[in-house]
Amino acid sequence: MVSRTSPDDLVVAAEPPAGPDPLVLAALVDRLDDAVIATAPDGTVRVWNAAADLLTGHAAEEAMGRHLADLVRDDGDPPLAELVEAAGRGRSARATSTWRHHDGGGVEVTATVAPVPGPGGAGGALVVARPGGHERAAEAKFRAVVESAPDAMVLVDEGGRITLVNAQTEQLFGWPREELVGRPVEVLVPERLRDRHPQHRGGYVRRPRVRPMGAGLELYGLRKDGHEFPVEISLSPIRTEGGRLVSAAIRDVTDRRRAEHALAEAYAREREAGHRLRELDRMKSDFLSTVSHELRTPLTSIKGYAQTLTAKWDRLEDGVRHELVGRITTASLKLDQLITELLDFTRLERGQLAIELHPHPVAALVTSVLDRLRELAQDHELDVDVPGDLVVLANEHAFGRALENLLTNAAKFSDHGSPIAVRARAAGDGEVAVEVTDHGIGVGAEELDRIFDRFYRVPDPLRGAPGTGIGLAIVKEYVEAQGGRVAVRSTPGQGSTFAITLRAAR
Ligand code: ADP
Repeated sequence: MVSRTSPDDLVVAAEPPAGPDPLVLAALVDRLDDAVIATAPDGTVRVWNAAADLLTGHAAEEAMGRHLADLVRDDGDPPLAELVEAAGRGRSARATSTWRHHDGGGVEVTATVAPVPGPGGAGGALVVARPGGHERAAEAKFRAVVESAPDAMVLVDEGGRITLVNAQTEQLFGWPREELVGRPVEVLVPERLRDRHPQHRGGYVRRPRVRPMGAGLELYGLRKDGHEFPVEISLSPIRTEGGRLVSAAIRDVTDRRRAEHALAEAYAREREAGHRLRELDRMKSDFLSTVSHELRTPLTSIKGYAQTLTAKWDRLEDGVRHELVGRITTASLKLDQLITELLDFTRLERGQLAIELHPHPVAALVTSVLDRLRELAQDHELDVDVPGDLVVLANEHAFGRALENLLTNAAKFSDHGSPIAVRARAAGDGEVAVEVTDHGIGVGAEELDRIFDRFYRVPDPLRGAPGTGIGLAIVKEYVEAQGGRVAVRSTPGQGSTFAITLRAAR
């Protein structure tokens, strides 16, 4: 049997010469499945194993000493002979091309060409080749993997240009892939974030590792049509023959962000509601102690005056007895008023307000309230201006309770003797407004929203006026139950106007 590779020839491939036994090496090379060809610096063949014979149709005896260009003819661009020559100058290459077989057939071959130091430093080349477009198959496999990824995948080279995208990318960003490949990846980034992107990209290329992008930041993608959407991106570096690439897996997180925001809002609402509930709870317990106090004050007076009258009846002058009985009456009225207010409130709380509306002349409604509040007329200068032709759709009890509350407040929060006005007028849109104006301490703008809340009292110790904080809540409920509304205008230090607006009746 002819040895295709002489041990001496292996000098070009095995440096230094004092390595493994050249005979063993020669046998080994001959057994390899890959074609192994080595050339001397002048381009002549020095090693040619059995697989090279199979691939080209040229036997080793024939090939040895001849120029590679005469033995391997391929359609590579550049052809293998040129790659071998370049290897002589120290350049490696890997290429797939079709090698023409001596018998005429062609076979696709992937060859790796590497420089080998020859004697005296001049360069030879080592070619290892195997049939099949392995490189292409691997690339096709890689593309298939990218294509089947659930996320949009974008491969970017070191210069920041897009080299490969999948169908999901086309769909997510609205770009056809032919238009994307070759463009700077920044086309997928919203303009306002574009400036800083190349800097981040540079940072990643210098320290590449698999990681999510922009940890802690909200990232956005830009569609071709200009629409922005939140994304999550994970990056990984890929080493290829053509250099380092960065692969970005991009996921549209619009739905998730929306859900997160909704959750955060719901949580905030929940907290706010909890806060209000605690506030209400606090106001309610304040209310209870206020009510007890409010009930006790007139009761204490009644008890005191009654005891005095009983103990000293005979010794008291008529005038004093009258005076004390009058005080007992006033205190009882206050007690009655307070209990009525509490009953109103519980009824309203339980939603037990069955209200029937009937047409009523406003003048009659107002007069019946003023008749009940005679004390008010004694303490204040009352200015009543109610045109006789105004008729409203109202419930007498509800209207009476609402107006009574407004009037007692007006008296409570203004000086003795100051004027209080009750005016009624036709308002636009078939409505009638009944207004109560006082010249009292007024309410600050920041409190105006809250004074109609249950239990709310303006926190101002200087006011000192008695009360439970439910009066205006009752007014509001009663007025709204009649299909109307209540409003307030007020200037601290100057006075307030509360207006009840109801539907006019024909
Ligand atoms: P209260 O029992 O304290 O009067 P209300 O619900 O009637 O409870 O009123 C709530 C708060 O609104 C009062 O504590 C008071 O601070 C303020 N307020 C109501 N009416 C007037 C008014 N005419 N002038 C000034 N402040 C008023």
